[in-house]
Amino acid sequence: MSLQVDNIHKNFGSDDRLVEVLRGVSLEISAGGAVAIMGPSGSGKSTLLHIIGTLDPPISGKIIINGEEPFLLPEPELARFRNRVIGFVFQDHHLLPQYTVLENVLIPTLAFKQNGEDYEARARELLEKVGLSHRLDHRPAELSGGERQRVAFARALINKPSLLLCDEPTGNLDHATANSVASLLFELHKEEQNILIVVTHSMELAGRLENKYRLSEGILTKE
Ligand code: ADP
Ligand code: MG
Repeated sequence: MSLQVDNIHKNFGSDDRLVEVLRGVSLEISAGGAVAIMGPSGSGKSTLLHIIGTLDPPISGKIIINGEEPFLLPEPELARFRNRVIGFVFQDHHLLPQYTVLENVLIPTLAFKQNGEDYEARARELLEKVGLSHRLDHRPAELSGGERQRVAFARALINKPSLLLCDEPTGNLDHATANSVASLLFELHKEEQNILIVVTHSMELAGRLENKYRLSEGILTKE
């Protein structure tokens, strides 16, 4: 398991409205590594996370995940790669309101129905780890903010991703809930041995990660 981000550039717009968001960003993380990315609002943190998560290609530069260069894959294979290798957690939980907690966690497995894995058992196990075994049949609206984010962690981990990408995962939670949700995130990361990247405004959260980076003026620097 490894991640290599090599000299990424990204612009939005063109001509007099050109915004150079990333101006040569590089980063390397090996198995089990965990990093925080901080930086002012609008500095390109989400843009960088989207590129690492293979959701949006860079203008130039390379992303190499486990030795593979996903942006060289044609679209249907890229989507499968993303689904298999990358887990996302956003500031908003992005759970589907019409489905139960258990069903929400199983959604990323729908593409892999026929491979014989017992996804439901894994979903139940993850939901137990995040302390929600008693909420399997509840809908997102019946949960607290912290509980919804716990479901989002379980969903992000269901396919055993090599890479877990979190964009302000505690940004909408009160301080105490944010702390406990962050502790859970670190526990899950250690157990699953994935590579963890957390974008956060919280110095407290960033301080709990082994490596801290700052994105500013399109450049990523280690703190
Ligand atoms: P952060 O997550 O650090 O707050 P973002 O990555 O969301 O910052 O945005 C960085 C800059 O890129 C901002 O100036 C934003 O307006 C711009 N930007 C982001 N996405 C787009 C897009 N799809 N089209 C045009 N500009 C964008
Ligand atoms: Mg952002």
